Amino acid sequence: MNIHEYQAKQLFKAYGIPVPEGLPADKNTDLINLLSQLGGQSCVVKAQVHAGGRGKAGGVKLAKNPVELREAAQAMLGSRMVTHQTDAKGLPVSQVLVERTTGIACELYLSLLVDRGSERMMFIASAAGGMDIETVAHEHPERIYAVLINPIVGLQSYQCRNMAYRLGLKGAQTKSLEKIARGMYQLFLDKDASQIEINPLIVTDSGDLLALDAKINFDDNALGLHPDILALKDPSQEDLRENAAQQFGLNYITLEGNIGCMVNGAGLAMATMDLVKLKGGKPANFLDVGGGTNVEKVCEAFKLILSDSNVKAVLVNIFGGIVKCDVIAQGILEAIKQVHVTIPVVVRLEGTNVEEGRALLSDTGLNLYASEDLSHAAEQVVALARGVA
Ligand code: ADP
Ligand code: MG
Repeated sequence: MNIHEYQAKQLFKAYGIPVPEGLPADKNTDLINLLSQLGGQSCVVKAQVHAGGRGKAGGVKLAKNPVELREAAQAMLGSRMVTHQTDAKGLPVSQVLVERTTGIACELYLSLLVDRGSERMMFIASAAGGMDIETVAHEHPERIYAVLINPIVGLQSYQCRNMAYRLGLKGAQTKSLEKIARGMYQLFLDKDASQIEINPLIVTDSGDLLALDAKINFDDNALGLHPDILALKDPSQEDLRENAAQQFGLNYITLEGNIGCMVNGAGLAMATMDLVKLKGGKPANFLDVGGGTNVEKVCEAFKLILSDSNVKAVLVNIFGGIVKCDVIAQGILEAIKQVHVTIPVVVRLEGTNVEEGRALLSDTGLNLYASEDLSHAAEQVVALARGVA
């Protein structure tokens, strides 16, 4: 789960990570009053969306006086922000963060994440802040410094000093970097984050360190333990279908093709999508209906797939391991009737009671094609989506 920058900065504050003075505002906020609370004339107005790249896309505006503040806020609020990290529709802006401006001496990069290869938490630091870190890693890998944390002893002071040295920091700045790194580390552990990124972490004109941007991702599987974090969720920033899927325990991700895929098991779902692509088609979604599939889940899965008007045909690929194939076949028939599926559905079943399952799916009078072979099923669904029976 993602949260907004202003929410992440509130958490930063609570963990001793310095951030600029700032307040969130929506279309009902008295901006003049807000500006006087911040105590100044000039400020930065930042669109609150769950995506980076706002600076380049006009989502970070400097306002030198209350008039410019109102103009910037009005232009952003109610609009949709399109950045290189969003799709072409962008994300709705219903809040902005109004912050004190800061003189910037240099922009650094600091993040904390889980390195799956070493199974450890890892800090990534770079003196090339403010840029896309993927680009830096690609073009100047020598400017990236990674620090792995031993989980038994935790973050060590010498590691913080090494990071500070690599970032070109001196004296008191080294101490403040350690304070920031420790705050990030503790926040990560306490709240089950999966990534914390500060880009840029700046050195101000007066030599202080300040987190100018703040991004935190949380591990969805741990959200049950953190009602305070879950309360920060903003569904308007998420895909409608992906939200609906979560409620039914379905793992769904919208894609851009026209072949709906319904599969049990994430690995099988990935393999199915690969095969569809190999046969010249494009999957409209990733969908893992999980192990214990039942009629209700299959119905909801069909509803999700069909709510995407791009979908021209559906491929169902289910392995009957825990559930029997005849039970799945009944579920599919029931779902097709309940949800009034009219586009072609290709079903490939394998596993326990597969003969009974296939028998149920043949001669149904529905636009249904039972296939014995996955490769053939993929070819068939690609052809059907093209309108070739
Ligand atoms: P994004 O990563 O979405 O582009 P950032 O929060 O990183 O958004 O802001 C982009 C740039 O805007 C920063 O690199 C910094 O140069 C400038 N900026 C952001 N906040 C402030 C601020 N409070 N004062 C001065 N400059 C800022
Ligand atoms: Mg940024």
